[in-house]
Amino acid sequence: MSSRLFVVAGPSGVGKGTLIARARAALPELEVATSATTRPRRPDERDGREYHFLDEAEFARRVEAGEFLEHVSYAGNRYGTLRSEVEQRLRDGGSVVLEIEVAGAREIRRQMPGAVLVFVAPPTMADLEARLRGRRQNTETEVSDRLRIAAEEMRARPEFDHTITNDDVDRAAAELADLMRSAMNAEEHG
Ligand code: 5GP
Repeated sequence: MSSRLFVVAGPSGVGKGTLIARARAALPELEVATSATTRPRRPDERDGREYHFLDEAEFARRVEAGEFLEHVSYAGNRYGTLRSEVEQRLRDGGSVVLEIEVAGAREIRRQMPGAVLVFVAPPTMADLEARLRGRRQNTETEVSDRLRIAAEEMRARPEFDHTITNDDVDRAAAELADLMRSAMNAEEHG
């Protein structure tokens, strides 16, 4: 079994988290890297579980210290992948998945050319909008920010190794698990 780094990107609200959770249920050896962010914690989130929640100063300190593999500003907050969540696991022969936005995915590709990049697309932009509103996690301003960013992110699709359309969660999760399983079973090449 090869050690692999997977990146799952795509617009906010598209269902990346759900697909990853489903794929992990099928692939227990796969680990998820917990990102750091400066965005406020939502009531149902726990520090160290969904994210490492950091204040601006601590995030900046860690950027300065080189602790991030990639980091971005997104809709007014900072998000980043900590090296400590990824590098040792890969050295130990494990496989890791990152759930990040598109600019971060590009940076990972640059730094780790062997990473497998997966883009999750909504069936339509209207469907994405309905999902973002339906999950009730964001204010009206946040929803419109996220939709504006999403339109931009959709243009990055051709840069990815695979695109999965999240038209049906069972089907899409099975597609993700299948492609991850094949990558983990294939010879390493970079
Ligand atoms: P949310 O605020 O909804 O949790 O996340 C907003 C966006 O930031 C989502 O598209 C999410 O995938 C992305 N994101 C989460 N963690 C990271 C990270 O470590 N790096 C990057 N580049 N994006 C991230």
